[in-house]
Parts: sequence; structure tokens; C-alpha cells
Amino acid sequence: MNQGNDSPAVSVVVPLYNEEENVPLLQSELTRALSDLDYEIVFVDDGSTDRTADQIEPGPRIEVLRFEKNAGQSAALYAGLKNARGATAVLIDGDLQNDPADIPKLLAEIERGADLVCGYRAERKDTLVKRVTSRVANFVRSRFTKDGVRDTGCTLKAMRRECISALIPFKGMHRFIPALVKGAGYRLVEIPVNHRARKFGQSKYGLGNRALRATVDMFGVRWLLSRQLNYKSRDKKT
Ligand code: UDP
Ligand code: MG
Repeated sequence: MNQGNDSPAVSVVVPLYNEEENVPLLQSELTRALSDLDYEIVFVDDGSTDRTADQIEPGPRIEVLRFEKNAGQSAALYAGLKNARGATAVLIDGDLQNDPADIPKLLAEIERGADLVCGYRAERKDTLVKRVTSRVANFVRSRFTKDGVRDTGCTLKAMRRECISALIPFKGMHRFIPALVKGAGYRLVEIPVNHRARKFGQSKYGLGNRALRATVDMFGVRWLLSRQLNYKSRDKKT
């Protein structure tokens, strides 16, 4: 992680996989929402096979990471966070389902003392199947991993950069960001955020590739958290 003297206050990390129609709109919405801030946007093109990368308007505040091939949403978010230079990192989907206008609200919670702010979609604009499966998954996961968060599937989050070190790079990690960060002792806050229907492109997930994997991962994360090293040194050295 590189944080030089010219580091921005906020880094916004956006995972993109075949979102060519969404990128120009998203970029202009982000620019508007962030206009009062010292920010950078880290776009991670997760091996798109369409023109996603070409649609990103270059600029001094724009960083682009391009994967050789599709590696998954967790990899895109993780790589984006590792390259983020800001004191606070914001995660947001690249398909316009999250609303950039919510970002200042998340940052206000960080100002108030939260380490990780998780948006939850108060009125979800997704299919019935998606809403029901997500509800069940959130119910089970929040109890099982003790993250207590009602909607981990909502990508829109803000975190102090220290929290990034609590994340572990495995496929599916993005669903367990609150569990890992809370497990490391950081303070979580949840706030309601806007949610919009996907207008362009397609969802990358169906029932088959989400439910089973997320369940297996849930056991893994619980085990991991139960086996955390937990020590306090008497000396200054750690
Ligand atoms: N995404 C990604 N790599 C993938 C799958 C998804 O970078 O392998 C991105 C995708 O482009 C979007 C975000 O992750 O910006 C969320 O994906 P999607 O909208 O398909 O998820 P859903 O809203 O259906 O849960
Ligand atoms: Mg989406």
C-alpha cells in the first residue's frame, strides 16, 4: 500500500466486469458526488471482454487497474483497496445499482468515529428470487459469523485504511468484509442507502454460483475468526 504525502483523503474503488454502458454514467455521477472532496477513483477492470476499459475517461484523479482475465469481484475489490492511497476507502458497484450520492453520508459516519460504514439497501430493486435468497443468506450469515450486519451484499461501504489489513484474499471475501473487519476489533456502523434497478448489462451472479459458495465460505470465515491470534505484548515491540 502506498500512501505518499500527496495522498487523497478518499479513494473510491470500483470493480468492473463487462459494464461498458454503465461506466460513463457512473463516472459522471461519481465526479458530481465527490466534487467537494480530495479524492481518487480506482477503477478495476476485472478482465472485461467488452469495451469497459475504453469507456473510462482518464484524468489526474483516475487510476485504472486492468486484470489479464476475470478473477472475480473479491479480487477486484482487494486489488483496488491495496492500490488505494486515501485515508478512507469507499467501495461501490460499477453497475449504477449503488448511488454515488450516498458517499458523503458514509464519509460523515467515518468522521463521527466509525471504522467501517456498511450501506444497507432499504428498498432493494432486484428480482424476487434475489431478494428472498439474499434475505435468508443475510439472516444466517450475520448470526453465524457474528458480523451482525443486515446486508453484506450491498457493496457500498466506507472504511478507514487501517481496516484493509483485516481483509484476507480469498474468492468470496467481499461478502465477509464486515465479519473480518469486526473480527479484528474495528467499529461498524450501518446506514440505509439508495438502490436502483440495473439498467444496462447483466448481473454476474445466479442462485447456483452464489448460495453454495457463500455457505462454504461462511464456515471457513467462522473457523478463521475462531482461530485468530490474540495477544497483547508487555513491551513496545509486537
Ligand atoms: N464484478 C466484477 N467481477 C466479477 C463479477 C462482478 O468485478 O467477476 C463487478 C460487477 O461489474 C459489478 C459488481 O461487481 O460492478 C457487482 O456485480 P453484479 O452487479 O453482477 O452483482 P449483483 O448486483 O447482481 O449482486
Ligand atoms: Mg448489481
